[in-house]
Amino acid sequence: MKQRTILLVAAASLALAACATNPVTGKTELSLIPEAQEIEIGREEAGKVVATIGLVQEPELQKYVSDLGMAIAKESERPKLPWSFQVLDDPAVNAFALPAGFIFVTRGILTYMTSEAELASVLGHEIGHVTAKHSVSQISKAQLATIGLGLGTVLYPEMQKYGLDQLAGAGLGLLFLKFGRDDERQSDKLGFDYMLRRGYDPREMASMFRTLERYGTNTGASGVPEWASTHPAPENRVAVTMERVAKLPPTVSGLSIGRDALMRQLDGLAFGENPRHGYFAGRRFNHPEFEFMLEFPANWKFQNRPDAVVAVSPNGDAMIALDAAGKEAPRSAGEKFVSQQGITRGTVIEERINGLDAWRSYFKAATQQGELGGLASFVAHGGTTWRIVAVTSGAKLDTLANDFNATALSFTRLTDAKALAVQPAHVSLVRADRDMTVDEFAQRYPSSIPLETLATMNGLDKGGKILKGQVVKRVTGGELPK
Ligand SMILES: [Zn+2]
Repeated sequence: MKQRTILLVAAASLALAACATNPVTGKTELSLIPEAQEIEIGREEAGKVVATIGLVQEPELQKYVSDLGMAIAKESERPKLPWSFQVLDDPAVNAFALPAGFIFVTRGILTYMTSEAELASVLGHEIGHVTAKHSVSQISKAQLATIGLGLGTVLYPEMQKYGLDQLAGAGLGLLFLKFGRDDERQSDKLGFDYMLRRGYDPREMASMFRTLERYGTNTGASGVPEWASTHPAPENRVAVTMERVAKLPPTVSGLSIGRDALMRQLDGLAFGENPRHGYFAGRRFNHPEFEFMLEFPANWKFQNRPDAVVAVSPNGDAMIALDAAGKEAPRSAGEKFVSQQGITRGTVIEERINGLDAWRSYFKAATQQGELGGLASFVAHGGTTWRIVAVTSGAKLDTLANDFNATALSFTRLTDAKALAVQPAHVSLVRADRDMTVDEFAQRYPSSIPLETLATMNGLDKGGKILKGQVVKRVTGGELPK
């Protein structure tokens, strides 16, 4: 959890139909929205993405990615768009394009890149989605997808009514466009052309796809790569790219790969989840940055999202969400919450929690599907009022009230020095002093990640070979205190 953000679902006016020429195909298309509106939507959505997920605080890396993206975008059919390329502080392996050229890559995908040309191929592909106006036509179809929490519970529709789904992160309301396979094929082709025009070796596009494939295999069925969820993979992507390479005229030469240039940028970059934004030690949630901790009921499932920490009961019939409710004092923030239309306040308890100013109230909420019951708690700490909302069906509140109450009462200052000092794992670079296998490398230079991950992030198979003088990534640190 990073910060509280108010999330509004894009209420873009999608009914506007206009006639416009597609810059890539040259064809006249119906129902494309005017460019000015495209820019407006893109800018607004990009602002929400940044506010919700946050950017990596590394100015040099941001500039590097931005400069590279800008250079490639200049080669496209829409060089004059307000292009922007930013790195999100997100361990997920993903990249996406919002309308009008607002493009994001995650630090997660960056750690799997091995050359500037590979990154150029990712950016080129995303630029392709923008220039071919895939995102615009998606918006025309009003396909506003939301990233779901997997809260497949009966509570969801009722929570929506009170905006509790936003609190639970179930309706982040970000504009995540899902493209079709034809769009993907076209973006691959466009990205290939753009990177080539800029002088990058397009064979690196094939190796980038191979890495994403390996990543998908490593994470298995349980971990659908985030990239794949927004960019469904066309078949034979690697082979199609290599066929394109084979057709290049022999005059094409001197293409750049830029392995060391990219690697240098990744040195020291955080890898995986950043525990400074909160981490679980069993059922206890520690937040080193905001210096508090909280204990959820035993056997519940937890998720630490950028905007809230959410816990769901084992059978999915109850939920507890923790987020920041702003600077308002606990009582007035709490009064506001229980004064919402449709909510009836129950017993109010005004007593400090572990020495912190606090206010809590049981409540009932009437919905079409029946009654919900819960406990809303507000605790002041570190200049912020923290909100802990626990909800279940009205009939189950009595059974769960003890769990709800215990969770609220467990909120306390984090004082453990080790927990406060926790740091994320990070990428570090090693120059191989001789030829060796990935396995030998891992023994010589220990990493805090599995061998498959180490191989994949270096663009290799598990049995792959590292050559003398090659710069290799490894991951160190990130151990959580017991
Ligand atoms: Zn795509």
